[in-house]
Amino acid sequence: MIMGSVKNEPKITAGIMERENEVAGHLDGYFRGDGFGPVSGRFSAKAELGMVVLSDETHREIFRSPLIRLTALEGTKARSGQTFTLFNVTIGNRFHWERKEDQTFRGDLILRPCDDKTIVAINEIPIENYLTSVISSEMSGDAPVEFLKAHAILSRSWLLAVLGGRKKTEETSIRTGKIPEKEGEAIRWYGQEDHDLFDVCADDHCQRYQGIAKIVSQQAKEAVRETRGIVITYLDEICDARYSKVCGGITEDFDTAWDDKRVPYLKNISDASIFHQPIKTEEEAAVWILSEPEAYCNTKDERLLKNILPDLDRKTKDFFRWKVEYSRQELEEILREKSGFDFGTLKEIVPIRRGPSGRISRLKIVGSKRNMVVGKELEIRRWLSRSHLYSSAFVVAVEAGRFTFHGAGWGHGVGLCQIGAAVMATRGFSAEEILKHYFRGVEIKKIY
Ligand SMILES: [Zn+2]
Ligand SMILES: [Zn+2]
Repeated sequence: MIMGSVKNEPKITAGIMERENEVAGHLDGYFRGDGFGPVSGRFSAKAELGMVVLSDETHREIFRSPLIRLTALEGTKARSGQTFTLFNVTIGNRFHWERKEDQTFRGDLILRPCDDKTIVAINEIPIENYLTSVISSEMSGDAPVEFLKAHAILSRSWLLAVLGGRKKTEETSIRTGKIPEKEGEAIRWYGQEDHDLFDVCADDHCQRYQGIAKIVSQQAKEAVRETRGIVITYLDEICDARYSKVCGGITEDFDTAWDDKRVPYLKNISDASIFHQPIKTEEEAAVWILSEPEAYCNTKDERLLKNILPDLDRKTKDFFRWKVEYSRQELEEILREKSGFDFGTLKEIVPIRRGPSGRISRLKIVGSKRNMVVGKELEIRRWLSRSHLYSSAFVVAVEAGRFTFHGAGWGHGVGLCQIGAAVMATRGFSAEEILKHYFRGVEIKKIY
């Protein structure tokens, strides 16, 4: 997004419930819609022939329209503020820990039909309110302050880039893609596909957003407030800033994870106070991955790790360098299940192309029944694990019918390295210094 096009704090639409037969909830305070109101209390809504039908708690119809927007009335002093609650919101969609809970929101409630039978509930709020919710519910208050500020600036930039990207979808880099299928090749990448009816979903697919009740960290809230309107820019464009958990010592180039283009501020850097040479050959990759180089993200500080990665319920805490082992038969089974192809007896796993952090973007899998080249980094991680491998920066050793993966880092490794950034903050670097370390050639500007 061009900087000049944002003058005031923009609003963002977040899809909270999608493809539901019915949406039910509670308006805490008085709300009005275009053509009706004020309304308050319990409500429910359904789709009927392309219309949304809004009803009160006695199931009496209040209004019907192709789009219903409920806005809190100014000046009503409901005790809970001007909020609304949605019942039975599914969280953890697409993941195995899916469950439902009631969630409370500020801002407008927009109801639209998805098709003739189902309905979508959207929350429209100013971007700073949205960021406060996302950052403060995902980041522990014990995380270093300059790290929280850097993250707030980064997330704000990413969001504004998403909003800008929706207006020029052909050029945007945030789409999912696929190289036209060739015999024996499966090269795919997964971006932030555009949602049709709103800007972002409330899931991990975009950023986890659970309304206003989940604010757990006052410090994160402060970090958003103190950086209000501040973004990362490159040649007067707001940066499509990315981040991952642990780069492994060198960050990755954009095109190892997504489409084949160069993004100048998403280029590899040495994530250390010393210079590490980008990986070029298989020999260099093996030396790099099998060593423990000095790097900001090479830390064993468990308290810090836990504060930055709250979903740290994993067995291993070694993400900087890790190891996963399979028997041949086990890996054959995983491959068959995850790729949909039967490779027969698995013979070899051969890296064809690596990025500067050692992450593989094209990998050849050789079996008795077929050979295939798979990419890019996320698809490789998907194919070689029941869930996901930590990263595609690995070397494989085959011995006595066992495949041993030695790897480096967690995530795609592009952009800011969360653990590295947190460690930098504890060593006295400011938010601005941290951002300029990971995103080279950028400026930090306040745009509203
Ligand atoms: Zn999404
Ligand atoms: Zn790192």
